[in-house]
Amino acid sequence: MIQARGLGKRYGDVPAVDNLSFDVRPGVVTGFLGPNGAGKSTTMRLMLGLDHGSGRTLFDGQTYAELADPLRSVGVMLDARAVHPKRTAIGHLRMIAAGAGIHEDRVDAVLGMVGLADVAGKRAGGFSLGMQQRLGLAAALLGDPATLILDEPANGLDPEGVRWLRELLKGLARQGRTVFVSSHLLNEMAHLADSLIVIGAGRLLAAESVAEFVGRN
Ligand code: ADP
Ligand code: ADP
Repeated sequence: MIQARGLGKRYGDVPAVDNLSFDVRPGVVTGFLGPNGAGKSTTMRLMLGLDHGSGRTLFDGQTYAELADPLRSVGVMLDARAVHPKRTAIGHLRMIAAGAGIHEDRVDAVLGMVGLADVAGKRAGGFSLGMQQRLGLAAALLGDPATLILDEPANGLDPEGVRWLRELLKGLARQGRTVFVSSHLLNEMAHLADSLIVIGAGRLLAAESVAEFVGRN
């Protein structure tokens, strides 16, 4: 369960995120929809305390900064392209796992989950955007977290990749996890998500099921 309250951030006079409050329930995939520039990435960064701003976000009752073992509580993918190009997929994941005291067996498990087992020893610099997204997802899943925060994870995936992502995210949600995933494409969201938080110009426009939202738009 995520409870975001009064999130706000201004760049000069312009509010990027404007007093935004919402809940994200476990057990379903919740989409975070809004056009480019609506404030989705800024909101996710505020939720995690990575940006200065106002408001507070609780993950199962604790702020991100209060989590004793963040990787095992909240899995995050904000920018899939952040992996060093010379690092191999498995090397990247092993480094994160080692830093968090996560057993190496889990690295193989998440590589399998995201379909990268065959290219585990290849360098990330040669990866397509879709493969980089899969690697970013693998890193987010390393700690087997109760909550996932994923910024535009379908970016760069082909239609088959989006179908695969939907099955993965729905499976994770069905296990009782809280899954919060952004996109600027309603069509993509209609495939990925069960429920929607919709923002425009940093403000909440709707919080309802995908079926309700699509029915009205
Ligand atoms: P989204 O993720 O929905 O595309 P962002 O959160 O990236 O939106 O951006 C929200 C708004 O904040 C946009 O108008 C963007 O131009 C502005 N913005 C984001 N980062 C900065 C920054 N570092 N400096 C100034 N304005 C920014
Ligand atoms: P399965 O029976 O298929 O293994 P489970 O429901 O037992 O599925 O969960 C699989 C994994 O998901 C476990 O490792 C568990 O820690 C994790 N998990 C499931 N629900 C939650 C939850 N609400 N919070 C944190 N982790 C969860």
